[in-house]
Amino acid sequence: MAYVISPPPMPTLPVEGSTNVFPVGRIFCVGRNYADHAREMGDDPQREPPFFFLKPGSAILPEGRDFPYPAFSESVHYEFELVAALGIGGTNIPATDAPKHIYGYAVGLDMTRRDLQDQAKALRRPWEAGKAFDYSAPCSRIQPVARIGHPIRGAIWLDVNGKRAQNSDIAALIWNIPEILAELSKLFTLAPGDLIFTGTPAGVGPVQRGDVLHGCVEGVAELTVRVV
Ligand code: MN
Repeated sequence: MAYVISPPPMPTLPVEGSTNVFPVGRIFCVGRNYADHAREMGDDPQREPPFFFLKPGSAILPEGRDFPYPAFSESVHYEFELVAALGIGGTNIPATDAPKHIYGYAVGLDMTRRDLQDQAKALRRPWEAGKAFDYSAPCSRIQPVARIGHPIRGAIWLDVNGKRAQNSDIAALIWNIPEILAELSKLFTLAPGDLIFTGTPAGVGPVQRGDVLHGCVEGVAELTVRVV
C-alpha cells in the first residue's frame, strides 16, 4: 500500500557506540519535578501526582545543531533535564518493571516560550504554543543502558555562557523514573521510541541569541547548544 503523500521523515537521535540511530516517537515532559524549581515557579513542592505535557517528536533538535530563537516570544527559557528513552512500550507498567522498558538515557533542554506559557496559564488555555514549538527539544545522543546502566544519582548542571545557572542532583527528582513510567503508562499506551523529559531543577532563565548552553548529567551525557 502506498501513501497518498510522502510521509515526513522519522525524527532520530544518534546512539553512543553505534552507527544506528534511535527513532523518536512522542516526547512526554514531566512538570514540576524538583522541589526547588516548583518553589521558583511559585508552586507548592509537595508530592502531588506528577503531571505531563507533550511535544511532538518533530520538535527534537539533535546535538550539534543550533537552536533558532522562535518567533512570537520575548522570553524563551532553558530547562535542562535528564531524558529516558523507551525501548519497549506498554500500559500500566509497574514501577518495578520500568527499568526493562528503558533503552537508554540522554540529556535535553525543554525550551519554553515562558511568556506564552504564562499567558496560557492565566487564560486557562493549553500550553502547546509555549512548549511544543519547532526545535523546542534539543537532546543529546542516547546512551544505551547496556553502556551506562540506570542512573539514579549524579550531578545535573547547566552553564549559560560559562556561568553555572542550574545545579542539582538527579536524586532530587520528586518522582523518580520508574514512578514516572508507572504513572504515565496509566494515562497513555507507551511505545518504543517515546522520550520522557523528567523535569528541571531550579535556575531556569531566559536565553538570548548568541548564548551557549552547556549542560551535563554526571554519568549520562553532555549537551552544548547555541542560540541563534
Ligand atoms: Mn521542563
